[in-house]
Parts: sequence; C-alpha cells; structure tokens
Amino acid sequence: MSDRPLPLPDPETAFFWEATARRQLEILRCQTCKTWVHYPKPSCWNCSSGDLKPERVSGRGTVYSYTVTHQDVPGYTAPFAVVIVELEEQAGLRMVSNVVDVPPEDVRIGMPVEVTFQPVAEDVWLPLFKKR
Ligand SMILES: [Zn+2]
Repeated sequence: MSDRPLPLPDPETAFFWEATARRQLEILRCQTCKTWVHYPKPSCWNCSSGDLKPERVSGRGTVYSYTVTHQDVPGYTAPFAVVIVELEEQAGLRMVSNVVDVPPEDVRIGMPVEVTFQPVAEDVWLPLFKKR
C-alpha cells in the first residue's frame, strides 16, 4: 500500500478501474470501426460512433516518451520516471504511467514493457509497467 493519491472513477472511467482491480487492462474500443480510444471518451475520434465498449488489451507496449522527476510528490519518492507507453494494439494508443523495477536513469525510449498491477488501497490497483 502507499500514500499515492487514489483514482477517482467517474461513469466514463469506472470500467477501467474495475478491470485493474481484476488485474486486467481494458481500453474502450469502437465497435463500429474497431479503433481503440484512450483516454475514455463518449464517442470514437475516428468515426464518431458512440458504440464504444471496454475490451481487454495485452498490456504489452513500448516506452514512447518519459521524463524523470527529481522532486518528491505525494506517494512518490524522487527520482522516478513518468512514462508514456504506446500499447501494441494500435499506433498512437498511449497511456501515462510509471515504470517499476527499472532505475529511472535506465529507462529508454523504445524499451519494451508490459503491464503489472500494484495495490494502492483495498480493491484499487494501479496499472504500472515493467521491462519485458
Ligand atoms: Zn469508430
């Protein structure tokens, strides 16, 4: 457990946190054109369809970009890396997270990663990434 700020699910993001509580990563997918949509939105950016449903993704991806923070913030002890991970399901399908088990100075753009889940409260699990 940690003192990290907890996610505050709303109707658009509740599915995401319910999935991470099962240690699964789910992303909204347009049922009309099959485009993945993240962050969650009420309609597809590609075809404007409102028919979006959560589907499980592999959790595999690569580091698209990152920054190393050298100042403590609540729940995080500096230095730590904030990463943008591009998931393998779709070019441009990216999420912000942290890399664990890799020193911040060893994080690299293009590094292959996969999701791992860390509990921060009862039934609240954060999707983080580890090197693969
Ligand atoms: Zn669509």
